[in-house]
Amino acid sequence: MMEKENFSVVDIFGENVFNDSVMQARLPKKVYKKLHEVMEEGKELDLETADVVAHEMKEWAIEKGATHYTHWFQPLTGVTAEKHDSFITAPMENGKVLMSFSGKELIKGEPDASSFPSGGLRATFEARGYTAWDCTSPAFVRQDAAGATLCIPTAFCSYTGEALDQKTPLLRSMEAINEQALRLIRLFGNTTSKRVTPSVGPEQEYFIVDREKYLQRKDLIFTGRTLFGAMPPKGQEMDDHYFGSIRERIASYMRDVNIELWKLGVSSKTQHNEVAPAQHELAPIYAVANIAVDHNQLIMETLKKVAYRHGLQCLLHEKPFAGVNGSGKHDNWSITTDDGINLLEPGKTPHENIQFLLVLTCILKAVDTHADLLRESAADVGNDHRLGANEAPPAILSVYLGEQLEDVLSQLISTGAATHSISGQRLETGVKSLPDFMKDATDRNRTSPFAFTGNKFEFRMVGSQDSVSQPNVVLNTIVAEAFAEACDELEKADDFDMAVHDLIKKYATEHQRIVFNGDGYSDEWVAEAERRGLPNIKSMVDAIPALNSEKAVALFEKFGVFTKAELDSRVEIEYETYAKEINIEAKAMIDIATKQIIPAVIRYTTTLAESINAVKAACGADISVQIEILMEVSDLLADTKNALSKLEEVTAQGAAMAQGREQAVFYRDEVMTAMKALRTPVDKLEMLVDKSMWPMPSYGDLMFEV
Ligand code: ADP
Ligand code: MG
Repeated sequence: MMEKENFSVVDIFGENVFNDSVMQARLPKKVYKKLHEVMEEGKELDLETADVVAHEMKEWAIEKGATHYTHWFQPLTGVTAEKHDSFITAPMENGKVLMSFSGKELIKGEPDASSFPSGGLRATFEARGYTAWDCTSPAFVRQDAAGATLCIPTAFCSYTGEALDQKTPLLRSMEAINEQALRLIRLFGNTTSKRVTPSVGPEQEYFIVDREKYLQRKDLIFTGRTLFGAMPPKGQEMDDHYFGSIRERIASYMRDVNIELWKLGVSSKTQHNEVAPAQHELAPIYAVANIAVDHNQLIMETLKKVAYRHGLQCLLHEKPFAGVNGSGKHDNWSITTDDGINLLEPGKTPHENIQFLLVLTCILKAVDTHADLLRESAADVGNDHRLGANEAPPAILSVYLGEQLEDVLSQLISTGAATHSISGQRLETGVKSLPDFMKDATDRNRTSPFAFTGNKFEFRMVGSQDSVSQPNVVLNTIVAEAFAEACDELEKADDFDMAVHDLIKKYATEHQRIVFNGDGYSDEWVAEAERRGLPNIKSMVDAIPALNSEKAVALFEKFGVFTKAELDSRVEIEYETYAKEINIEAKAMIDIATKQIIPAVIRYTTTLAESINAVKAACGADISVQIEILMEVSDLLADTKNALSKLEEVTAQGAAMAQGREQAVFYRDEVMTAMKALRTPVDKLEMLVDKSMWPMPSYGDLMFEV
């Protein structure tokens, strides 16, 4: 087996990807050139070229053992979708078959789309949906228990061209920022860069538990999180897991995850233990946005798949366990030209870097103007347990710039000119054998939801199981808008230097309220943010309206990223998803409480009662302790039954409501409240009932016995 042998990362990296070097080696020169034009200039791919590419792709895939191909796409379910077709053609007269794959099959697929969420965009009578090859994201062969499958990354649209997926708007938003960023750098004299693309590096957090234990938890199976569970004696208070040495079982799992990812050309780079027990993180090296989004989906798939093989279960939910940290996905974002210039690179003396200051203040303006939209882009059902609840990051959007940039900004605001930059200082370690080194001019702030970290922004609100597409769609588009508005002004200015200087000062002044360098978790910040008029949107249900507000519609339509109809459909899907997911959680709780917990507690009370009678009959000893426990347990049992009845009642009410905002609000306010009320007595019971009788593994078992 691979996992025990030595191997060279260089050899296996990308071995299952139909990447540029494979194409160059296998495709006729003319075809290769043509394909590159399509990729770089967004030209139309003609059928003749597509036929040649498809044929070579198939030959290559068959060499890797592939029997099937699939258009791999990302519908609005949050996960990827695929339908497999084998390469075989109709049997010939001699009873044999051929393996074929045409250009048409490569470029376009036609899955029956009627059972994917469309939010009313696609009536069932016109259930046709199309998948179209995104040739900027390379095809790959995925090897697993199903054998090997050629996967073709695709976009997914309706018959009338409306986006039904995560990828289409992302590609559109990348066009928008490309166009506006090019306008901006041209103003500063750059005539050579041809393209500007957003780079994205998503850091993925996840939990790993033992699969045997997982299978005994119906809540984890049905909802991905625990719906009951008392805190174990030890949580994360010792901070001994973060960056701790990785246990062997996990290390061996990580090694296999890396091997799989490297073969798929995913540059898995960093792995470490996270803050909570059993929590870990994986970060790849950043890539062009659409590839990074695809790769993040592959990372999530691979984490889950490889876990099975190791007798483990990977939990990607944002909050698998109450009482310890949940999981997120830091979305690192920057914008780079095709010739390698990062527009977010401040240089050593940011105060002199006028282009950087304009880019920076445009981003401040964008984030301030569309804080609600950015917040919305990170909303998913599981993330409600993080954002605005009692953990990181806060639901209020603010930008952390660090000491150096904040100082430059305040010079600009107060005097209209920045004359110096605070520079990094020598950090003395006080140990002779250790070198002193230069400190960054900027420290880190872990509590900020949107932090400048050297040459990129780190958007930290995204949920761990969510696609990173939408946050990047929003980032790309809002920044494109700010660039466009700046360029509109500057292109008509008589004195460019003067005009750009004034604009930077104007943006810095008007949007300084979004900058916050302090502790984002503190109560003072909540009050201060309110004074500043920054939105504090605490739940997904309250975030959703930002998606099709007048402001959002104008923004997205201006840059051709979403039509109003597409936005309306997404809003509808999100309300529906919210209600459905909470409904499943509520039903899972009802099921577990009725069939597992209440019967177990009854068994325990029976044992207690029998013991009381037996002890009394045997010797008449003091049985007051047993009686006290029996009373306590019985009272909690009654509380449980009452809370259960209430939950059953409101869940039935919610399920009977028409889909839409009102139903989602009902699920949040009534059903979620009833769920919490049921959990409280059950968690208390878990602390009282004989462990051998409790019907499922405890938090301690799950988090500490991996
Ligand atoms: P940390 O934030 O944990 O210190 P890094 O800053 O090294 O880690 O990187 C976190 C993620 O950010 C990685 O995926 C990395 O590739 C990505 N990243 C680094 N530089 C950029 C950049 N200029 N643009 C986008 N992502 C980046
Ligand atoms: Mg980071």
